[in-house]
Amino acid sequence: MRALVLSDIHGNLEALEAVLAAAGVWDVLWNLGDMVGYGGSPNEVLDRIRPISTLVVRGNHDRVCCGLSSAVNFNPTARAAATWTQNELTRANAEWLRELPKGPIFPRRAAQDIELADSDTLVQGSGPHVSLAHGSPLDEDTYILSMRDAWAPLQQMEHAVTFVGHTHVQGGFWQRDHDWHEVRPAYLTRNEPDAWRMDIVPGTRQIINPGSVGQPRDSDWRAGFAIFDSDASQVVFHRVPYDVTTAQGRILMAGLPERLAARLREGR
Ligand code: ZN
Repeated sequence: MRALVLSDIHGNLEALEAVLAAAGVWDVLWNLGDMVGYGGSPNEVLDRIRPISTLVVRGNHDRVCCGLSSAVNFNPTARAAATWTQNELTRANAEWLRELPKGPIFPRRAAQDIELADSDTLVQGSGPHVSLAHGSPLDEDTYILSMRDAWAPLQQMEHAVTFVGHTHVQGGFWQRDHDWHEVRPAYLTRNEPDAWRMDIVPGTRQIINPGSVGQPRDSDWRAGFAIFDSDASQVVFHRVPYDVTTAQGRILMAGLPERLAARLREGR
């Protein structure tokens, strides 16, 4: 089974379209949240991603933009974008965001738990068991940026592979007994579509971040995503260029902070 794993689209329709065009054929789409906030196309992104998402976990920006949480912990730029998004969202999109489950969720059980799409949500074959979260599997708002952050969840996880988003940094962490490693995809290009393959070694525990579709912060401006092949026990990380100028124009025309447009080209 091929799962397209996406996170942190953040209202960037141009990046999302580039990812969907580059992803090829997939069986299920696992969406790790933060679909809105920061970007200028929240409704367009939700109208596009809702019908094709097999499973979705909520992100912190999704919660704030639909009124479930306050923006008190957001910096002024994020708060301005969340307030604008909250006013912009259609009633149907806001209600849909309010119903999203908190991570972690488990694709094997999800078919009974969550009615989001009628596609087959089960992980087929003998591949590793998987869970999906926005931040940490131990807490939805916690960032996993370092091995120090990854340590407790790697010790406590019941699943071999946990996909997370939230940091907007592509890569991950894995551990087997006393062996532990940080993973950073090593791309050869800066401005073209690129891919980097990682085998999931049997007996390892993995925290894997597909990167951010709509606002990367790992110094690579290209939209990030991952394809998980459960039969091959393999993850392929991808970066794909997109029409960043149009995405920036939508942010500026919406009256959102200019910094939100500038950072897209910097990937920071
Ligand atoms: Zn985010």
